[in-house]
Formats: sequence, C-alpha cells, structure tokens
Amino acid sequence: MSNLDRQAALSVCGGRGFVVGEPVRELLTPRHVQLGESTEVRRLLPNLGRRMVGAWAFVDHYGPDDIADEPGMQVPPHPHMGLQTVSWLHDGEVLHRDSLGSLRTIRPRELGLMTSGRAISHSEESPKPHARFLHGAQLWVALPDAHRNVEPHFQHHTDLPTVTAPGLEATVILGELDGARSPGTAYTPIIGADLALTAGAEARLPLDPDFEYAVLSMSGEAEVDGVPVLPGSMLYLGCGRAELPLRAGSDAGLMLLGGEPFEEEIVMWWNFVGRSHEEIEQARTDWTTGTRFGEVEGYDGGRLPAPALPPVALKPRGRVR
Ligand code: MN
Repeated sequence: MSNLDRQAALSVCGGRGFVVGEPVRELLTPRHVQLGESTEVRRLLPNLGRRMVGAWAFVDHYGPDDIADEPGMQVPPHPHMGLQTVSWLHDGEVLHRDSLGSLRTIRPRELGLMTSGRAISHSEESPKPHARFLHGAQLWVALPDAHRNVEPHFQHHTDLPTVTAPGLEATVILGELDGARSPGTAYTPIIGADLALTAGAEARLPLDPDFEYAVLSMSGEAEVDGVPVLPGSMLYLGCGRAELPLRAGSDAGLMLLGGEPFEEEIVMWWNFVGRSHEEIEQARTDWTTGTRFGEVEGYDGGRLPAPALPPVALKPRGRVR
C-alpha cells in the first residue's frame, strides 16, 4: 500500500535515545486516514507519541470492509525506497504487481514481502472478482544502512510456520518466535507474528528481553498484559520482557510486532525511507521524472503522483516526538 495522504507528513525516527528500556503499557490510538474514495485506514505507526517499534516503521490496519459492490483496494503504481513492505490479510485478497514483473494474489495468512532496496514500484488492488470482505494490515520495515541498497525483490510465502498453545495459534510472519522461523528475509533482528486466540484463552508468549514490542489488535476482545486492546488500537510494551500474558474474551486476532531497537536515525517521507533530506528529494525527483523506480505493467490507471515536499529541511532525529 502507499501512503496516500496528500499532506504527507515527514517523520524522523530511529536512534537508541528514545527506546523505553523497561516494560511499559502505552496504548496508541489510531489516526484515521482516507485512502481514495471508499477506504479508510487506521494508522498506528508513525504515531504522535511513537514512531518505530524495532525496525517496524509504519503500521496501517484496514477493514473489515464490505466491498461486495465496490472496487475495494485500488492503489496505483507508486515507488518505495529503503524499506520492506509486509502485506497481511485476515479476509479477502490483494493483487500485487511490481516493477520486477511480479504478479501475485496475496490471500489470508500468506506473506507478501517486498524488499524495495534502493528502488522499486508496485500497485495493489482488489482483484475482479473479489471476496466480499477485505481486512488486513499493511506494514513497513526500515532497512538498516548496510542493506538499504540491496537489489529489490519480492517474496510470497503461503506456508508459514506456526507455534501453538492451548487457545493460541501464532503464525510467524517475519523473524523467529519460540524456535519457529519465518522464511521471509529479514535484515535486522525482528519479529512479526499473527496471534489467533480462541474465546476464553489465557496464554503466555515467550519474548526476547532485548527486543521492544507492541501488539496490534485486529479483531475481537483481548487483553494484553492486563490491558484491553480494542480492534484498531496498538499497545506499546517497551523492552525487558521475557513473556507476555494474553487473554481473550472472544475469538480475537492480534499481531505481535517487535525487534531490536533500531539504532540508526532515519528520515521517512511519503513512501521513502532515507538518511537525509537530499536523498528524499532525489527519490521524489526520480519518481516524478520516471527514472530509477521502473515500470509496473498491467495496472488499469495512471501512476500515483508524489505530494509536495514540506518547505522545511528534513533532519533525522529521535524515535519519539
Ligand atoms: Mn506500497
């Protein structure tokens, strides 16, 4: 998905200084962002109070939306730089096309992982015909300096490892959880896992004390470390935890996001992650002039124009506003 916000805000984030080194319970409320005519997403990262969780730098939750008589998701070709995109669905499907020639339909509980490296462009759309409901999350992972210029590539994994406990099935999307490792390529120590809880479940999830974590609720009634987290909200948990207590009052769907605190300071604007204002400006120019980001074949419509850059120079700084 693209950041379709026409007043694309600039985010500067990363750096060790703002990581909470101890367990906390900080409830992040979403910002509602309109995507096109019919779709509204709930943006959890970047958030007013917090911009990253490990290398996770962008989290949108959308749906469930009834799109039976609607086009559904229609995100025209747009560029990315310096990040990976993770597509994760609970309902429906998304047709992915990119400038490498990839053409894939991502379905629920399959990993669509696009590594932009230095430059890629892609489009995402609800196929025709499509399922009635669309429900998912779109996430970005910042690439570390050593790998941010890797060759762009796209991975589609339909069979991800799971970890089970009574009332809990965890699907490992990225990184490793309790000995189960995702086949998706990760460039920093990171975890992304889908947590499916059944009504009445009480579970304790093993965590890495050196990671910072957050849990996004996608559906149902769940308590994370004793805090009720409503669908579309995210609880930031800090670091220093060896385990995480979970309870479900109904069937519930959560996402665990975590990782080693991202020490590099980054500049994030529109669909780009860079290290300086000049880099971002160059990427915007390259997209506008049709160089570097390649061509997406087969999308029925034009490409997404870049918004205007904010008038002030972008400087990298800390993780919390
Ligand atoms: Mn995108």
